[in-house]
Amino acid sequence: MAFDLSKCDFSRCRGECLVRCPYVSYDEDDAKRAMKSLIEGERHPILKECITCAACNDFCPLGADPWDLIARRQEETGVLGIPADAKPSSDWLTKPAVVIRRGKPGGALISAGGIYEVVPQAEFLTGQVFEDATVIGGGPYACGFTETHLGRASRPLKNLPQFIENLAKAAEEFGVDEIVFTHDACYNVATTLATQQGIEVPFRPVHILEHIRNWLRDHPDRIKNPLGLSVAVQGGCTTRYAPRGGDREIWSDWLADIFEMIGVESVEEKRTYTGDDRLCCGCGIFHTQHERAVDIQRKNIGDAAEAGAEELVFICPACISVMRATCRKMEIEPIYITQLVKQALGEELGPAGTAAFGYPVK
Ligand code: SF4
Ligand code: SF4
Repeated sequence: MAFDLSKCDFSRCRGECLVRCPYVSYDEDDAKRAMKSLIEGERHPILKECITCAACNDFCPLGADPWDLIARRQEETGVLGIPADAKPSSDWLTKPAVVIRRGKPGGALISAGGIYEVVPQAEFLTGQVFEDATVIGGGPYACGFTETHLGRASRPLKNLPQFIENLAKAAEEFGVDEIVFTHDACYNVATTLATQQGIEVPFRPVHILEHIRNWLRDHPDRIKNPLGLSVAVQGGCTTRYAPRGGDREIWSDWLADIFEMIGVESVEEKRTYTGDDRLCCGCGIFHTQHERAVDIQRKNIGDAAEAGAEELVFICPACISVMRATCRKMEIEPIYITQLVKQALGEELGPAGTAAFGYPVK
């Protein structure tokens, strides 16, 4: 999470970082002028136009990580003007540590991080895959990554040593050497960011998709109801920080395995907005520029529908909480990954349904 000035070489790029940004209309000259201005510490309109999706880190062909410079300048200038009542992640960071559900000895330890109430993780993490698991959450286990959408991108970095220490204590307390993360932000902070910062992680971080994939692989006889569905996938901003497995982000391989085992076909290859060009859920501007956020969602969901998706699968609690209403209006069912898997196992979804519509969260 640091802009690398030595790699930002205007003579070797075409300003792809901002030319490819789907939320502004910059040509090559505009893009390079904007980057030059940010490098020189000036306040440029891109700071306000940026919706904090992190995609330009993927677009830069030289690996300079321009989003990290934009985020730093957004924090320095306070340009996002986030109102106090739209800062829930700060509250999440101050919540006490809780055991959301106590499992059985030998079961997995799952951290739901700080945003376990955005969608009801306690209900979503039920059924055979999770029946023995202990689920913990609260501020001490929150990576703070959502702060990158609120003009405080330095927060996860500052929080990192304490975050890892808290989780290490939890692993010791519950007698495990692995922690499963329900939000891939926490997973990516405990893997990619910790590695970048040279911080030792004394437990093995496990992504929720890896956990589900392994369980299904070990229990193929439990898949009672192959779904025969065509789906699109909402890959959130945090997935862009995932460790890579070959030429792809590693989570996409786990998801592909899950889909194959439960009889689901992905339409992602037929989509315009997919891979590096996938669109953001709009959570960073959901309160401050609501109509703009909903327009982005419509474009994204319309693209999924055109590619033949019957449902839109989410792996990020924040993405599904801000996109579910637009999905339903556009008649494409939003579904959280754990609920999709439950359907294939022939399990009831319970009152939280596919996406916790109208569901009372605490
Ligand atoms: S961040 Fe990358 S794409 Fe953007 S101007 Fe610098 S080198 Fe070029
Ligand atoms: S983070 Fe996303 S919205 Fe912001 S400039 Fe980069 S690509 Fe555009």
